[in-house]
Amino acid sequence: MQDNLEEILLSRKIHPTAMRLLVLDELSKSESALSLNDLEGHFERADRVTLYRTLKTFEKHKLVHRIEDGTGALKYALCEASCDCAPQDLHAHFHCNKCQSTFCLKDYHLSQMKTPNNFQVEEISLVIKGLCEQCSHVN
Ligand SMILES: [Zn+2]
Ligand SMILES: [Zn+2]
Ligand SMILES: [Zn+2]
Repeated sequence: MQDNLEEILLSRKIHPTAMRLLVLDELSKSESALSLNDLEGHFERADRVTLYRTLKTFEKHKLVHRIEDGTGALKYALCEASCDCAPQDLHAHFHCNKCQSTFCLKDYHLSQMKTPNNFQVEEISLVIKGLCEQCSHVN
């Protein structure tokens, strides 16, 4: 497990430190995207600045992508190994209105989105809102 995580970091040219391995482990175990606050909750002894920097490093190296789900807190989810975070790699997200979790819909690609001729796309985001699998069962 640990070896594998180290390889993932190295494949993105990120130097593996203990903190980076822990954060990556947490992200890979989580089914939903994590905010800085979520991560802080998992690591009581890590300070917020270090966690923030770790996420920024991951984002810069395209190991994670940022999701704005409308809750005001940025969330981060792991990218797939082939992801280059380019428009053709982008996918939709699902935000659950009940448990506030946000999930990647990796099969829902946004590369088909058309814009008028002279509009240059820099970012695309699509957030679908509703009830996640677990919350819709409870109803
Ligand atoms: Zn990506
Ligand atoms: Zn839910
Ligand atoms: Zn995603």
